[in-house]
Amino acid sequence: MKGPGMVDDRQLSAVLSEFAYTIATDFSIASILDHLVRQIVHVVPVTSAGVTLIEEDGHPHLVAASNDAALRFERLQTELSDGPCVLAHGSGAAVSVADLSVEERFPRFATAASQAGLGSVFAFPLNHGRVRLGALDLYNESVGSLSADAMSAAQTLANVATAYLLNARTREEAHQSSDQMRHLASHDALTGLPNRMLLLQRIDHAAERARRSHAPAAVLFVDLDRFKSINDTYGHDMGDELLRAVGVRLTDVVRPGDTLARVYGDEFVLLCEDLRDQSDVDRVSERIRRSFDPPFTLDGVSVSISASVGVAYAGPGDLVSGALIAEADQAMYQIKRESALGRATSDLDSLPSRGRSVALGRDLRAALTGKGLDVAYQPIVEPANGVLSAVEVLLRWTHPVEGPMPPASVIAVAERTGVVSELGAWVLERACRDWVRWQQDDPDGAFDLAVNISTVQLMAPDVAGEVGRILDRTAMVPERLVLEVTESVLVEDPERARLVLLDLKALGVRVALDDFGAGYSSLSYLNRLPIDILKIDRQHIESNGGVGRSSEVISALTTLAHALGLQVVIEGVETKIDRLTAVQVGAELAQGYFYARPVAAADLEALLRGAGASTSPFRLPRQRARSLRRR
Ligand code: C2E
Ligand code: MG
Ligand code: MG
Repeated sequence: MKGPGMVDDRQLSAVLSEFAYTIATDFSIASILDHLVRQIVHVVPVTSAGVTLIEEDGHPHLVAASNDAALRFERLQTELSDGPCVLAHGSGAAVSVADLSVEERFPRFATAASQAGLGSVFAFPLNHGRVRLGALDLYNESVGSLSADAMSAAQTLANVATAYLLNARTREEAHQSSDQMRHLASHDALTGLPNRMLLLQRIDHAAERARRSHAPAAVLFVDLDRFKSINDTYGHDMGDELLRAVGVRLTDVVRPGDTLARVYGDEFVLLCEDLRDQSDVDRVSERIRRSFDPPFTLDGVSVSISASVGVAYAGPGDLVSGALIAEADQAMYQIKRESALGRATSDLDSLPSRGRSVALGRDLRAALTGKGLDVAYQPIVEPANGVLSAVEVLLRWTHPVEGPMPPASVIAVAERTGVVSELGAWVLERACRDWVRWQQDDPDGAFDLAVNISTVQLMAPDVAGEVGRILDRTAMVPERLVLEVTESVLVEDPERARLVLLDLKALGVRVALDDFGAGYSSLSYLNRLPIDILKIDRQHIESNGGVGRSSEVISALTTLAHALGLQVVIEGVETKIDRLTAVQVGAELAQGYFYARPVAAADLEALLRGAGASTSPFRLPRQRARSLRRR
């Protein structure tokens, strides 16, 4: 138990981690403050605690207290503009008053508080760099100072709370515009219908539900016939008008709960779930075709148009995935081709997007057994001393005609066309083999291997089995493997993700959450998921111009990650200043062009051989001793 003036260390770490857990799920600024004052009195031997947030113009705007007396003391300080809270906030340093009755720095508060029975008070600034948020006050009825331990525990809690507060503030700011942004990002501006991205998300959801319910689902691909000629004859405005009108008509014939999306140009996709059987789909597709019977009246002109409908049906228990779109697309294409035999083929030429997506998928499949696929490696380094900690493997595909393709697009095509699991397995196996070879060449050079796993790949059946088999086949050391997953999957179905990640972790591998801060940045799942490493996205550095405010966010996220027991990697470290930010926020690891761009395996080997030399951006773990300036 804690003696007078003593801090209970176990209690402190319990409170810190509980703090992290609670705050991460319940995120309002007020609840952070409440939590801080309620918890701190269990850690530090004081009677009560209060906290006041102060705006830039000096006005208090939020107060929390562990009991009524503390609340009165907080308000008193605000009313008088005098007291330890005001001083700590203004000076940025902790204020310790062992005996209020003889205190002279804030006479008005000291007199009033002593009369109310207060003996001593200790105030801690909620500061982060240049940002001053307010101060935390600890009140004791008795006279006497706090031990150095207690003072430092209190400041630690104040610092952690500050990190949360900053993050909460950033989130609140971001939230204001994000709803609108989300709608814009997920809907087609012309028709207001969901766009391709939202459709793919819905298909992922449908896949999940179908797995549980075993109910059939279907994807219908609707493509307007001769749309191009309408555009050519009447102009693009009329074309747009027609697309909007088609959107309205199609909306009228779909069942509630189904998703109708415009995915590209004159292509609409309908996702139907919870079907009884195939005859349901037949009825829907018949309704769609018939809905084109009456001509459209646009600007007083009557326009007749028909549509081709391709259907892909996933029966009870079948796998539902983005590949269904490709299948429906191909079915539709087939229909067009057949009916095109009797008419001009000009509109067949204007099918780049679907032709392209499907064709790329085919080329990718061919590349898996042929050539064109390769990987690059990028070092991940301890920013404080330049010691190499890991390499991340990054896919590279050179298309036979189109040349090098951006990996993110390759993965998207692979997800859509059903080859992503194979592709992911290929990358993993290749990287594990490389790693094992490096280990054999240099047994002391041990570093980790980071491999990206796409959302669709992660949610595919038996992903852990597949990874396990690759580990066995290649003799990769599981403890050295880090699988990088992105947050989208975690947001959509955290429970499923949790189970899959647990299966993977049972193999001995670790899990990193990639690109954190780029998308949803929902903190609520961070503590529910078995994650070991948080990779903070480079956009925090990029969009904020290096340091300054961005480092506050990075710092807050780092503190949060640490409180949850996670390691932190700062991504996109390009400059010396970025590196310094990574060091200053206490991130364990950094990755980016400052150290090295992704390089071919052979070039990485050359870099490894040169490591430790004065021109090398990093050193190997066994060369750590040469750089023991820090830690
Ligand atoms: P990622 O996993 O976040 O990988 C890091 C990306 O950031 C890489 O882009 C890398 O080249 C880039 N990068 C690293 N340092 C810097 C920097 O200092 N500045 C800038 N501007 N960029 C930097 P890359 O290779 O184009 O890969 C893009 C994304 O594609 C990856 O992001 C990952 O999400 C995905 N990806 C790549 N390979 C694979 C793979 O094998 N499987 C899966 N599922 N996804 C992959
Ligand atoms: Mg990654
Ligand atoms: Mg990343």
